[in-house]
Amino acid sequence: MTSKTLKNLRPMGGALTDMHIAHGVFVAEAPQGAEVVDCGGRIVIPGMVEAHTHLDKSLLGLPWYRNEVGPRLIDKIDNEREVKVSLGLDPQVQSERHAILAMSHGCTHIRSHVDVDTHHGLAGIEGVMATREKLAGMVDIEIVAFPQSGLMTRPGTAELMDEALALGADLVGGIDPCGMEHDPKGHLDTVFALAEKHGKPVDIHLHERDALGWFSMEEIIDRTVALGMQGKVSISHAFCLGAVDRAYVAGLQEKLAENRIHILTTAPSSAPVPLVKELKALGILTGAGCDGIRDTWGPFGNSDMLEKAKVIAMRNNLRRDDEVELALDICTYGGAAVMGVEGYGLTPGCRADCVLVEGETLAEAVVTHAPRWLALKGGSVIARDGACVIEAP
Ligand SMILES: [Zn+2]
Repeated sequence: MTSKTLKNLRPMGGALTDMHIAHGVFVAEAPQGAEVVDCGGRIVIPGMVEAHTHLDKSLLGLPWYRNEVGPRLIDKIDNEREVKVSLGLDPQVQSERHAILAMSHGCTHIRSHVDVDTHHGLAGIEGVMATREKLAGMVDIEIVAFPQSGLMTRPGTAELMDEALALGADLVGGIDPCGMEHDPKGHLDTVFALAEKHGKPVDIHLHERDALGWFSMEEIIDRTVALGMQGKVSISHAFCLGAVDRAYVAGLQEKLAENRIHILTTAPSSAPVPLVKELKALGILTGAGCDGIRDTWGPFGNSDMLEKAKVIAMRNNLRRDDEVELALDICTYGGAAVMGVEGYGLTPGCRADCVLVEGETLAEAVVTHAPRWLALKGGSVIARDGACVIEAP
């Protein structure tokens, strides 16, 4: 039933009020015959947005994976490609388990990078597309065709990316044009040519640090300008924006703002991270994600974007309430803006995607990653008391 009156709730931790839902959308007046739900004074926030994850590769539901992977990026990439085979990982099952876990925490929108490589072909894309279809109406899933194992270093991958985009992937992915591919021109020209051919946006993993990352970022900006793709390019991780040389970074951030290039942070413990207050001050749209969770890369992560907001706050040394609220904003409105979600928010006319959380204030909800009481998608309940209404396979 998608017509509801939610009584006694506090939008964004503010004053007590009632909210109304008709036909899956927030409305100003109580619809006739609506189901009445007493929310007991809880806080309501919009549905949480997981804007950078990898649905195809978590090991959720499988026996504990003993991680003995090497220290380099390429060690993790090579190891994963092999373990997927030895474990017989099914991207459909794993992505469904992962998405249901995210939904249980009140996530209503997900952007997932999905591996495309010459070993596994389009199995990941097909698996996540099947999950997207199965969970349609309960969570929105955006798919990035992601050349995790390399584009230039693995001939045949560009053709597979092309197929993935024709099949239904929503964005073109990329990865470390210099550090991994050793061919920034080749890599970025291929990524942007695919984007142009399919008329789809770009989201590039950029782990490269300091001057190497700045160089790649300049190359990304140049291509964004050349193709008129302002507003359609995201850079994930962007560790080079967390560099010590703030003067150089300031100039680069101005260019990112000017060309409406978005940043997605995962705020990991392993690298410098973009400074979200600086990005906010420049008007750079910033979202966040948990990245891979419980996979061959590492054992951590739970797809809880409220907990991720806390991590972002801690990694950015955010202490004041308004600063902690910024971290939450990144995990809700910020991610939605980066993904171009229409009708996102709590005002009349917006899709009734929301989460009711315990707690006195927004900052407290972030700090304690407060229990989720109810999560709605289009006015329908998707999770209660931290459990999704459907069971994972
Ligand atoms: Zn990633």
